Amino acid sequence: MTSKLRLVLKFGGTSLSSAKQIKAVAKFVHNVSKKNQATVVCSAINDVTDQLIQISEFIQKGNKAAASSALAKLKKQHQQIAKESVSNSKIRKKLDEKLNAILAELEGLLNGMMLLGEVTPRSLDYLISFGERLSVGIVSHVLQDLKSKSVDLTGKDVGIVTDSNFGSSKPLMDTTRLRVSANLEPMLSKKIIPVIGGFAGADQHGHITTFGRGGSDYTATIIASCIKADEVWLMSDVDGLMTADPKIVKNAKVIPEVSYVEAMEMALFGAKQIHPRSFEPLLTKKIPLRIRSTFNVNNSGTLVTATPDESTNKTVKCVNVIRHNGLIDMRGGSMVGAPGTAATIFSVLAKAGVNIMMISQSPSESSISVVVKKNDLDKAVNTMEMNLLGKIIKKIDVTADVAIIALIGSGMRGTVGVASKVFGAAAKKKVNVVMIAQGSSELNLAFVVKDSDCAAAVQALHEEFKLAE
Ligand code: ASP
Ligand code: MG
Repeated sequence: MTSKLRLVLKFGGTSLSSAKQIKAVAKFVHNVSKKNQATVVCSAINDVTDQLIQISEFIQKGNKAAASSALAKLKKQHQQIAKESVSNSKIRKKLDEKLNAILAELEGLLNGMMLLGEVTPRSLDYLISFGERLSVGIVSHVLQDLKSKSVDLTGKDVGIVTDSNFGSSKPLMDTTRLRVSANLEPMLSKKIIPVIGGFAGADQHGHITTFGRGGSDYTATIIASCIKADEVWLMSDVDGLMTADPKIVKNAKVIPEVSYVEAMEMALFGAKQIHPRSFEPLLTKKIPLRIRSTFNVNNSGTLVTATPDESTNKTVKCVNVIRHNGLIDMRGGSMVGAPGTAATIFSVLAKAGVNIMMISQSPSESSISVVVKKNDLDKAVNTMEMNLLGKIIKKIDVTADVAIIALIGSGMRGTVGVASKVFGAAAKKKVNVVMIAQGSSELNLAFVVKDSDCAAAVQALHEEFKLAE
């Protein structure tokens, strides 16, 4: 790297699961910051957010003993990692004090929630924001142990202001931009490395809010937009976005470059799931994002930009799969030409809390098929039977275990013959295609097969589109 870059480096929980890993992360940041200006965003230590959510469930059930023992486990985990990762005794003492103060606040919160016996969206966000508060304390002190100057901050401290939509808040970007840059610029010019807790911010009343699961990615891109970073690196345990799941396709490869829109489609599938809103803050300033592995830093990963290099543009960039879903096919003569049929079906499913992943209707209008998560299948079928069977629906057919295969690539747009290649390849492997959907953006072509056929279909397509080359 020749010129100095302003970087935002985000580390996911899987990169922070032990003292050894945290030390490696700090070392990496320390080295990167010798030649560049680094701002760090961290998730909670692996699994900690899940543990906090579990604590909230204990509180809801009034199970004080279980909540306390889960808290004790969290305390021990963090104190142990802190002890093992900082060697300078002064810095360790400072870190211990910091962690103890945070853990005491967490304990106070749990007691309060327990007394009230309720978990509100607001108290839940406050509770689950503690994972990141604890992790950044540790990472920042490990950096100090390496003689880097570093400060740890929460999303609230750094100035991320959001709406009050607890659990899936959005940043108020104008205010956030002013506050974040006012807070970070002086630190950066003094060569201090800010280590910021991902996932959470605060609303205008100062109440902690979160962005939803995986929200640290979003924090990283928000910060990057506020300080006009040159690049954002999402560091995790995968090498980048892949042409297919390497468990299914042996010679699957890291995709070198994709566009923001392609990445948004891919973010929903595969090993590296990215918070879907993460790309928004990058779009106006066209800040590039890299998806890289913490454990394989020589690999440059996948670059996400507005305009990927021509040489990397292929018709199809990857073949992804979402396995183990249920397909429901609904038929009935009275569905034909009856306005509102689809609306009725979807609202009945929505009322039951079932999320629909894929939809298709034949032009004869005599059948509508939907794909839902397997966990939702029974609920979906029950509610359709109770509310609509014998009325607008005459017959319901269910296929219990199907896979959605999705080909993604903006090169499909306007390219003639993609579908025939896709279904030709499936046919050669004697794979029966159960349902097809393509959005008119032509960025994504998805079809459904029996789950037992999915490996053969994915392998055939990976080969057909020469994705290993
Ligand atoms: N710790 C949060 C979660 O597990 C946020 C994140 O990891 O990005 O969802
Ligand atoms: Mg996480």
